[in-house]
Amino acid sequence: MSLCETIRSNGDQCRAQALPDRVGCWAHDPGSREKADAARRKGGENRSTLVRATRRMPRDMKDLSRRILEAFDQVATGERAPDRAHAMARLAAVYVQLHQAGEVDARIEALEQAANGGNGTLAGLVSTYRRPS
Ligand SMILES: [Zn+2]
Repeated sequence: MSLCETIRSNGDQCRAQALPDRVGCWAHDPGSREKADAARRKGGENRSTLVRATRRMPRDMKDLSRRILEAFDQVATGERAPDRAHAMARLAAVYVQLHQAGEVDARIEALEQAANGGNGTLAGLVSTYRRPS
């Protein structure tokens, strides 16, 4: 197998493997252009859903989300080694778990405050709960 012969917009050669008996990878070979375009459109649709979900995220989670998408593209074009991306994905998963644990702690604390010192109403509960930023 040889490398894709496409020169990317930054001047580097694409690092993805060329398709068997072809000069380009799945994304760049003229024969697979239609499939690649469809894949890109699908990716675009999925990304717009992600963009909506991302708007509600705290800033550090948005940064993480953006970096994961970059790494995804870099693995696809051979710019980033898959084992490095795998390690990044594991770290990101741990980070998300820590974030979620922090949020659960904050909610429990708000419930405890409402039960112990609050006025016992939903409005009292809401006023004591502050979403972690
Ligand atoms: Zn390529």
